[in-house]
Amino acid sequence: MNTQRILEDTLRTARQSMTTPRQAVFDALQHHRSLTMRELVMACAHINRATIYRNVELFEQLGIVTRIPNGWKYRLELGEKFLDHHHHATCHNCGASIALPEDPSLELHLNELASRKNFKLESHQVELLGLCYACQT
Ligand SMILES: [Zn+2]
Ligand SMILES: [Zn+2]
Repeated sequence: MNTQRILEDTLRTARQSMTTPRQAVFDALQHHRSLTMRELVMACAHINRATIYRNVELFEQLGIVTRIPNGWKYRLELGEKFLDHHHHATCHNCGASIALPEDPSLELHLNELASRKNFKLESHQVELLGLCYACQT
């Protein structure tokens, strides 16, 4: 999967151009997998903060970036066009966010639960809260 190509196609379809800040935000998220807004601003230190915020907002609208709930805060991650669908376990002690392995039977089960209520499920986020291995001792 060529992520750069997907990014460029997504921007082109939305009649948006590729800019240096947009590329930098994308590269930072691709490299770090998930970042808080603050970490993203630090990773793109050469770019104006307001520009980063504006581009993250645009990326969210285009599905390039998703917000992952992290307790009462959130982390930013590339959207499902770029990463395979997965769920997160968040450590409430150190804030670590662990991507859980895919589980097709859980996916099926969630669909099944929704359809029992005649709900057409389009997407979902599952967030597990607890303590990571390092914080358990
Ligand atoms: Zn932890
Ligand atoms: Zn899922």
